[in-house]
Amino acid sequence: MHTTTPPASLRSAPQIAIVGAGMAGAACARTLAASGAQVTLFDKSRGVGGRLSTRRTVWTDAQGAEQPVQFDHGATHFSAHSLAFQTVVQQGLAEGWIARWAPRMGLQDAAPDGLGSDRFVAVPGMPALCHALIGALEVHCGAPVTALHRVRGGWQIERDGGLWPQRFDHIVLALPPAQAAPLLRPHATRWSEAAAQVPMQVCWTLMAVTDEPPGPAFDLLQPSHGPLDRIVRNDRKPGRTPIPGHAVWVAQASAAWSASHVDAPAAAVSEALRDALRAVVNPGGSLRWCHSTVHRWLYARPARTPLGTPGCWWDAAKGLGVCGDFLVGPQVEAAFLSGLDMAQAMRSAPATRRTAAHGAARFARL
Ligand SMILES: Cc1cc2nc3c(=O)[nH]c(=O)nc-3n(C[C@H](O)[C@H](O)[C@H](O)COP(=O)(O)OP(=O)(O)OC[C@H]3O[C@@H](n4cnc5c(N)ncnc54)[C@H](O)[C@@H]3O)c2cc1C
Repeated sequence: MHTTTPPASLRSAPQIAIVGAGMAGAACARTLAASGAQVTLFDKSRGVGGRLSTRRTVWTDAQGAEQPVQFDHGATHFSAHSLAFQTVVQQGLAEGWIARWAPRMGLQDAAPDGLGSDRFVAVPGMPALCHALIGALEVHCGAPVTALHRVRGGWQIERDGGLWPQRFDHIVLALPPAQAAPLLRPHATRWSEAAAQVPMQVCWTLMAVTDEPPGPAFDLLQPSHGPLDRIVRNDRKPGRTPIPGHAVWVAQASAAWSASHVDAPAAAVSEALRDALRAVVNPGGSLRWCHSTVHRWLYARPARTPLGTPGCWWDAAKGLGVCGDFLVGPQVEAAFLSGLDMAQAMRSAPATRRTAAHGAARFARL
């Protein structure tokens, strides 16, 4: 295979491939690039952000006109407890790509969201957070990385049916564990097995546009029973465009309900979740559905992190690393800290075999 880059030993800045441009990959990329590495990101989706995602689509109004609408159908918001993430949030607030969100809480808000009282959203959509961290770094989207190959002086990745021409000194996988496992299998069997065993929760998510319902308005409601465990008024989040006379909903089914309906047809799930939403926001009444669709997240959140796990996995001898929320916790901030740990481990132990143990402990303390 012809390569366009010289062997790693002849280059000065380390060349690093990061597979996965969600929060963990973006945090790792930004930190490594700031210390002089040449970073290239790869993602299978059309854009960056991963589970920090916003779906843009159109719906047809009563006059037959198509209207744009957006749904933050992955993470709905995030918090910042650690100094490192607070610094990013402060920068985002100052530059306008993060906004503070102070939702009116629904009366049924029985379960706290576990994120504390300071809530934030990225603007204009959730991927803006990853866009801001990645900046002008090289990103290739739209095709999955299907294999990693160790070659003389580094690594090559397989993607889109062929070998990517550039050779990398180091590879970082910033993926959900089930997606990291097959890529790791030929190179790090124990990591592959550990990743494959991390339980991930499923989440069915309803995205809908309705007429504005009567009754008390709320922006965030966390029902304590029934199929749904989080309901958000997407149009009332900062930086989103309200639709006069209408409501834009993102409603997430609980992990238990989603698991028991994991293989149910989307149409049946959609009907069940619409019934559940109507029962909460307009009990006994009706809602006019202008638009609705569902999305199934197979790897929504880690149910638990691997026992005694560090915040990232780094094998300096191989130049291979793994990071992601599943190593720290089920939040955007946890993914950020795992990515940061990854970069710090690579910087502090570039040449000897070492596994890093930063993030989990620090995240728990803060
Ligand atoms: C429905 C839902 C609601 C949530 N709500 C919240 C919330 O309110 N607050 C909060 O803090 N957190 C929430 N979370 C969790 C939060 O979104 C995640 O913890 C965090 O975004 C994970 O980031 P990550 O970088 O670890 O993984 P991801 O965001 O999953 O990034 C991994 C990336 O890898 C890419 N990828 C996968 N396989 C390949 C491959 N083979 N080749 C190339 N690319 C690949 C994917 O396309 C993706 O972009 C929620 C998650 C979901 C799904």
